[in-house]
Amino acid sequence: MQAPLNPPSESDTAVADGAAHRIRIVLVGTQHPGNIGSAARAIKTMGLHRLVLVAPQKFPHAEADAMAAGADDVLAGAARFDTLAEAVSDCRLVLGCTARSRRVQLRELRPRAAAASAHAQARAGGEVALVFGRERTGLDNAELQLCHAAVHIQANPDYSSLNLAAAVQVLSYELRLALLGEDTAVPEAIAPGNPDAVPHAALEGFFAQLADTLEAIDFHKGRAPDSAMRKLRRLFVRTGLDEKEVRLLRGILADAQRMARLAGERGAD
Ligand code: SAH
Repeated sequence: MQAPLNPPSESDTAVADGAAHRIRIVLVGTQHPGNIGSAARAIKTMGLHRLVLVAPQKFPHAEADAMAAGADDVLAGAARFDTLAEAVSDCRLVLGCTARSRRVQLRELRPRAAAASAHAQARAGGEVALVFGRERTGLDNAELQLCHAAVHIQANPDYSSLNLAAAVQVLSYELRLALLGEDTAVPEAIAPGNPDAVPHAALEGFFAQLADTLEAIDFHKGRAPDSAMRKLRRLFVRTGLDEKEVRLLRGILADAQRMARLAGERGAD
């Protein structure tokens, strides 16, 4: 039997079996059925599966199916309600996503804090809802009043309204990180903040010369050069080379190339 391409990791299994089951994504009054399909796809890619539709304008719809692209199980399993109050009646935490910051007298959370709160509540056994509004008008005030806190993605303040499914994707991704127990507080920076780092083209010039030099000194001895070059690239990218260092290394390579040429000429004599 062939092993599955992506065997679930331990933490993935925990996600599937645990808190994710208690988190629902609620779309209120969605106007474009394509957005419902895209949202289904967005949540499935992030290991969530509970979609709830409150008074969608057109559903079921061929555009929803087309945009779901393989997340049709999520669409088929979507629960439907006439009002938001009914859709969240059993929830212990209800978070309302708003495109405009500070529109309501609600506590406002950033997506990461919202995901951490959702995860904590779901892990403790409580049902959680993340609520998204209509494309044109968002959530109305009465609907926002049903939420325990508002969530705002810190977008460009002059153009802060994301496409509905894109907003669902951002929140679902944050939920996934929280569910997987990722420590999002510690960024994995590469070559952290080096203001003197060389431009991409200069680094590529160095790598090209390095590849030529390895060839000239017969480093690979008949083996394919790709693996060594990949490792060397990783090594040098990690160090965050500056201009002077690149110049020094290229000087060394130039000498090595010259020596190889001389050796070659001598061998030919
Ligand atoms: N014109 C509407 C925008 C609706 S966009 C308005 O101003 O409210 C559709 C839904 O996507 C919103 O109701 C919200 O749930 C979500 N959304 C879009 N941009 C968002 C953002 N920057 N932060 C949080 N949610 C957002």
